[in-house]
Amino acid sequence: MRPRGHNEPVTDFSPHLNSASPERFPVVVVGAGPAGLTVGNILRAARVDCLVLETETREFIEARPRAGFIEEWAVRGLQARGLAGRLLERAPTHTECEFRVGGEAHRFGYTKLTGHRHFVYPQPLLVTDLVREYADVRGGAIRFGVRDVRLHGIGTDQPSVSYVCPGTGERRVVRCAFVAGCDGARGVTRTLLPPERTSRHDYGIGWLALLAEAPPSSDCVVFGIHGRGFAAHMARSPEVTRYYLECPPGDDPENWPHERVWAELHERLAASGARPLTEGRLIEKRVLDMHNYVVQPLVRGRLFLAGDAAHLTAPIAAKGMNLALHDAFLLGDGLVARLTKGDDSGLSGYSEASLRRVWQYQEFSLWLSDVFHGASSGDAFRAGTTLARLRRVLSLPSAAASFADLYIGKNTDY
Ligand SMILES: Cc1cc2nc3c(=O)[nH]c(=O)nc-3n(C[C@H](O)[C@H](O)[C@H](O)COP(=O)(O)OP(=O)(O)OC[C@H]3O[C@@H](n4cnc5c(N)ncnc54)[C@H](O)[C@@H]3O)c2cc1C
Repeated sequence: MRPRGHNEPVTDFSPHLNSASPERFPVVVVGAGPAGLTVGNILRAARVDCLVLETETREFIEARPRAGFIEEWAVRGLQARGLAGRLLERAPTHTECEFRVGGEAHRFGYTKLTGHRHFVYPQPLLVTDLVREYADVRGGAIRFGVRDVRLHGIGTDQPSVSYVCPGTGERRVVRCAFVAGCDGARGVTRTLLPPERTSRHDYGIGWLALLAEAPPSSDCVVFGIHGRGFAAHMARSPEVTRYYLECPPGDDPENWPHERVWAELHERLAASGARPLTEGRLIEKRVLDMHNYVVQPLVRGRLFLAGDAAHLTAPIAAKGMNLALHDAFLLGDGLVARLTKGDDSGLSGYSEASLRRVWQYQEFSLWLSDVFHGASSGDAFRAGTTLARLRRVLSLPSAAASFADLYIGKNTDY
């Protein structure tokens, strides 16, 4: 058989399910989060076969609460790929946010400056839509509950992925042409890249992440900048609201009983004329130690990292899921071009194109973190300078325009 040229379409991967011999798929996607499922859907829409491997059950990933705000460019990217039907039907949109500081509330309308909105669509709903579309509509292969995923030969043009089958305990091998590493911050694929490729930033602060069974108490995201610590309010649904409270890193959620949580939220989010917060049962309470990392470049051989596997952005600026979708669009389109037309340009430019937006968002996250946490830093100089920054955004049209662009992620591919 004639050896295949580097850029020729890969066409000889018809899957077969005989467990005695290795299966073959052009692409194995490790991880069924927003990144992996979007890549899988893009491949299936182009009739490229792929296998998604996921350690958790379908029920678990469809219920895991995390993100809630999707930027308009990302929604349009999903829509262009036939993945936003239910989102566009059901998601309310936000056009403003509010800063509360010194007992005063300051509205900031970013949509009137950019034309772009946020769509409020909790991550479990998006994941549910993406799984259904991938597995039930587009007929994509997916294995839930797999154990001990390992990658082999990713420096060669015949890599493979193996995993332990949950039912039989048997190790199964899948040969492929490409591996998409979409297994999040605690996955296995990033460990295949040399550790010196990962740069990190630790904010040295914690956030108590809360979900309250309570309707939102404002029609927009509220950021409370307060000497006792930062606090935030974000709608998730008419019945559920996400709140954050700054706390020491590594704090124990048990240190935060119901009464203490609500007392701190009332105090840190107080502003004259503001609606009082509606309290409710706390259905999630976990401490996030705020840190970021970036792997650079995102590719090793036939392994392409995407989403949180490639870069983590603490939820300070609500960017992680948006970046995961950005990667998935680039990677999915690049894989389709390579596998169906032999066009390698998308894959060869993938890392650089992804990282351009990643670094803008990382920088914005650092900037915003200073604004959020300056007042509670115990350093009067930092408190003064970070408040000056906020006043600039709230008063100066050029500063407001630049902030709005980054906040909603418009024009950040420079
Ligand atoms: C409290 C909180 C609030 C957030 N709010 C926002 C927000 O408002 N906006 C925003 O944009 N982002 C937000 N984020 C970030 C966002 O949730 C993540 O960036 C997003 O989930 C990344 O998607 P992903 O597909 O890359 O990874 P994940 O969603 O983590 O998916 C990875 C998948 O891989 C699976 N997996 C792990 N290891 C393996 C393995 N070895 N083999 C196979 N599968 C594996 C996991 O079970 C998981 O299903 C928030 C995060 C948190 C924690």
